Formats: sequence, structure tokens, C-alpha cells
Amino acid sequence: MSRMVDSFGELEATSIFCPRCKRANPVRKSLLLVLPTGTKYDYACSVCGAQVGGKTDSDSSEFHRIASASRRSPSNLDRRASRSTD
Ligand SMILES: [Zn+2]
Repeated sequence: MSRMVDSFGELEATSIFCPRCKRANPVRKSLLLVLPTGTKYDYACSVCGAQVGGKTDSDSSEFHRIASASRRSPSNLDRRASRSTD
């Protein structure tokens, strides 16, 4: 039994029951929300596109990666601030 749980942790949910198709279909995983506490994913039916589920990761590495990347943009604010002091 424990062996089953171990393998499940490695696998992504590839097939979820879709209420619209009335059958289990492969799903598309898409990034929905990135939070400091984790990353939220959305599962959509690959056949009809209906949302069939979601998952929240407790991995915050994605948030820190985006946060550090967006740190370059405040240069626009610096320019505006220096203009007002001029
Ligand atoms: Zn569907």
C-alpha cells in the first residue's frame, strides 16, 4: 500500500473525470496563481477545456523566481521620482 502512495507522489494527475464529457479525460495543467506560500495550478479538460480541478503546491520557489525577475521593473518609478525632484 505504501508503495502505491510513493509512486502517486511522483505522478501528475493525468486523467480527471470531466462532468461535461461525462468521462475521465487527460488534463492540461496551467499555472493559475503564484503565492509566497505556494503555487496554484488549474486542471482543464484537454478535450472540452472545462475546469476539472486544481492543485496548490507548497513550493514557493516559483514565487521567488518571479519576484526577483519583476524587481527590474521599478526603474520606471525611479524615473518618475527623479523627475518630480527636478
Ligand atoms: Zn471535457
